[in-house]
Amino acid sequence: MTVGKRIGVFVCACGPNIADVLDIERVAGEIGKLDGVILSETFGLLCSPDGRKHLVSRIRGNDLHRVVIAACSPRDHETTFMKVCEEADLNPFMMEMVNIREHVAWVTPDRDAATEKAVRLVRGAVRRTMRHEPLEKMKIVCNPDTVVIGGGLAGMTTAILLAEAGRQVTLIEKSDSPGGFLSGDRRVAEPARTVSSGKKGIKMLLNTQPEEIVGFFGNFVLSAGNMEIKAGAVVLATGCIATENGGFAPAEDFGRLAELLRLPLDDEGFPEREHASLSPLATPIEGVYVTGCAGGPCFPEEAVARSEAVAGAILSSLVPGRELETEPRTSVISETLCRGCKTCLEVCTYGAISFDAEKLVCGVNGVLCRGCGNCAAACPSGAIRSRHFTPDQLRYQVEGLLR
Ligand code: SF4
Ligand code: SF4
Repeated sequence: MTVGKRIGVFVCACGPNIADVLDIERVAGEIGKLDGVILSETFGLLCSPDGRKHLVSRIRGNDLHRVVIAACSPRDHETTFMKVCEEADLNPFMMEMVNIREHVAWVTPDRDAATEKAVRLVRGAVRRTMRHEPLEKMKIVCNPDTVVIGGGLAGMTTAILLAEAGRQVTLIEKSDSPGGFLSGDRRVAEPARTVSSGKKGIKMLLNTQPEEIVGFFGNFVLSAGNMEIKAGAVVLATGCIATENGGFAPAEDFGRLAELLRLPLDDEGFPEREHASLSPLATPIEGVYVTGCAGGPCFPEEAVARSEAVAGAILSSLVPGRELETEPRTSVISETLCRGCKTCLEVCTYGAISFDAEKLVCGVNGVLCRGCGNCAAACPSGAIRSRHFTPDQLRYQVEGLLR
């Protein structure tokens, strides 16, 4: 699709945050002289309801094809301004944010230097947007069911909580009875009775271990024996074992399980987390959670608390009937350029790359890819292109900066 080049630039004062340090009128004035920029103006607080309304009307009223917003960190408001674009019927990937608050106002005290720096950064973004292409999000229907691996206290608690909320759970236990290493303890007697009694929503499979796990958040498929189990989320509740030197290590079969999932592990063999404090039970693979001692040693009370948190996270993210939007800023591999060396496969921590043994090339699963760019940087053949971070876009941006 060919998109026009009418560019609009909006420089935010961010209250006093930006405007007190640099001359935003001068920034808007300088940028307004650039080719393609048909509108360049300042505003007090672009993220406020008034600011958002103003943006929608300016984008629509001026038939803007590309937008640059010079304001705060994209971490704060990229989503806000992408929504604004959608509201104005502009593809949100035709917008580029420039962080002139943290990257300029808060670190460059000299007014002239800060203004000049902001002009350069915004000029880079203007040039970059000339190379932007509209990207489309895909929608996939998610499976709201869960598979829990490990029938100890944590696994049983997760399964019971999900079933009580009306979800279907398959609980897989490698031994011939639930309970794990607390078997016989009164704290597991009640949940063990519950999961063994054919409780509605829980299907328990004893003497069972997963042999293959494929798929992604919302659509995992596990093979165990001659069964195929479909689920939207996977919970690892495999416990841990005491070591000879008095420490703890993951259960013996955890490494194999991690391999099936391509789950990155820390130095002690426990799974890495998506974010140590914000989501300590979510792994880097979306839809895969850890609970109980599978996430590191803990007392039974904490195992229960971890399971409550995991059940809550699953209930809020896998809502029945909900469609999940996928991230379109993903990587793609050119089959012509790929030599099949598998370097990319090794560096992708999200398990998004697989090797096609017939064609002898790698391919990216667009639903699993998080667009981190690791693979594109590592590929010795230059076969990988990261959408929205193409060499052309980056070259244009740097040219704008240095001009
Ligand atoms: S690193 Fe590049 S050449 Fe090697 S398999 Fe991946 S895409 Fe192909
Ligand atoms: S961009 Fe990152 S997540 Fe996507 S395939 Fe490459 S390494 Fe994996």
